[in-house]
Amino acid sequence: MTKSIAIIGGGIAGLSTGIYARMNGFETDIYEMHSISGGLCTAWKDHGFTFDGCLHWLTGSSPESEYNKLWQEIGAVQNRWFHNYDRYSQAMDKEGNIFNSWADIEKLRAEMIRLAPGDKKHIDRIIRDIRKLMKNDLPAEVRISNLLRTLRALRIIYKYRKPVRDLAAGFTNPVMRNLFLKSFDWGDMCSAFVLWTLALFAKGDGGYPLGGSLPFIQAVEKRYLDLGGRIHFHSKVEKIITEGNKAIGLILKDKGDIKADIVISAADGYSTIFEWLGGKYVSPSLQKIYNSYKPFPPLVFVSLGINGTYPDTPHNLNFDLKQPFRIGPDEIESLFFKNYTFDPSMAPPGKCVFTLMISTNFEYWKNLSENREAYLAEKKRVGEEVIKSLGQVFPDLPRKVEVVDVATPTTFVRYTGNFRGSYQGWLLDKKALSKQIPQILPGLENFYMAGQWVSAGGGLPSGLITGRNAIKKICKKEKVKFVTSRD
Ligand SMILES: Cc1cc2nc3c(=O)[nH]c(=O)nc-3n(C[C@H](O)[C@H](O)[C@H](O)COP(=O)(O)OP(=O)(O)OC[C@H]3O[C@@H](n4cnc5c(N)ncnc54)[C@H](O)[C@@H]3O)c2cc1C
Repeated sequence: MTKSIAIIGGGIAGLSTGIYARMNGFETDIYEMHSISGGLCTAWKDHGFTFDGCLHWLTGSSPESEYNKLWQEIGAVQNRWFHNYDRYSQAMDKEGNIFNSWADIEKLRAEMIRLAPGDKKHIDRIIRDIRKLMKNDLPAEVRISNLLRTLRALRIIYKYRKPVRDLAAGFTNPVMRNLFLKSFDWGDMCSAFVLWTLALFAKGDGGYPLGGSLPFIQAVEKRYLDLGGRIHFHSKVEKIITEGNKAIGLILKDKGDIKADIVISAADGYSTIFEWLGGKYVSPSLQKIYNSYKPFPPLVFVSLGINGTYPDTPHNLNFDLKQPFRIGPDEIESLFFKNYTFDPSMAPPGKCVFTLMISTNFEYWKNLSENREAYLAEKKRVGEEVIKSLGQVFPDLPRKVEVVDVATPTTFVRYTGNFRGSYQGWLLDKKALSKQIPQILPGLENFYMAGQWVSAGGGLPSGLITGRNAIKKICKKEKVKFVTSRD
């Protein structure tokens, strides 16, 4: 008899899970609280501008890469044009010193030596290891055939397990040290992630899909629906029903109970384990993860619709502010923004979009949101501060801004339910690197998890891989040969 699977969440993880489940003959229903699919992988329109809340680059954009084959399975990359960036970003300090993290490795080396000739040894070591990672990337699936490559990649990743600031500290030149850290300011994230990203860009395997996140996720949704899957929007899960330590269904807000043979949560990890399952299925090691791992920091995400374009400005720019400003307890000393001039589909002709990601304090916004007037006023003020600060680099910009949109951590929670507004699950720091997060819970049968909360470092590939793995595990249990297909 065909088994039914109820999937919580219609983000990339939920859709991927559904696609592989349909390929393997399961009945699938996705329950999504929002009115559209995508979760964090989303964009919204405002006065002719498209504000993209996700995709900066996609691991596996190159048709040569192993990940690309998997993106093809879920229908994400066919007929899609990718823009390969010439650099990861440009960072500029107060004195006007500039560091471009070029995709071209020779150019990157020359750029670092130009800024820090005395650090040649450190620079050459980094460049050599990026080259090694280019040859020995971590495979999407570990097999006997790629074991050696996997081990080589793991060796480099282990070597660079310390935070980015430690790698930056290896530069004796203070300008290079500061600009390197500014370029890759990902908090406690392992520096391996920097090398891995640069290797990806160097291989042309971290491209940006023109059109951004919405057409990307809509193609994945189409693949799921074409395979016969069902999605139920405005269906908010409040509880996972268990019977005799087996998951047997869900309780939906205002819609009652639904029954299923298997339940897969592809939504927020904390809500799944501690709210919808009441914290009943938690091992000490899982509890430790939730007590001690750090989520990606919540964001103030500012989008600007601008009457003008900036074709000579890099797609990513990070610069120090001459006049810092405050957001709650934090002093904002630099801004990192994305200039979408290279993707004309994001704005009407002659116009463009800038987006800015600013790490912020969760409690500050949570408390503020209880007073609607004060919350809206603060959002407005932050938007104004950002525009004023951008005027430091582009004096004409403040008078060209037509639309301002400010999303806060509480916006992220309201739209996606993610723990503390995290935009990418758990930070891949030294602690998270050392341990795999289980996709099952101790003592609970017929239940699995997928998505960014079961794969530290998060990102879209985590949704694809963990969704695929969950169905592989189910097939193994059901003694069904796991199969995949491409459209
Ligand atoms: C600004 C930004 C930039 C990013 N850039 C990149 C990038 O360049 N490349 C990259 O790979 N990744 C990027 N990411 C990260 C990436 O978007 C996420 O890691 C990924 O989309 C997470 O997918 P997910 O399916 O695991 O979770 P989510 O997208 O959070 O999906 C969970 C789904 O569950 C639903 N849900 C939650 N609670 C309930 C409930 N009670 N009932 C029913 N449904 C529920 C939510 O509405 C949501 O649709 C970025 C993210 C942000 C915010």
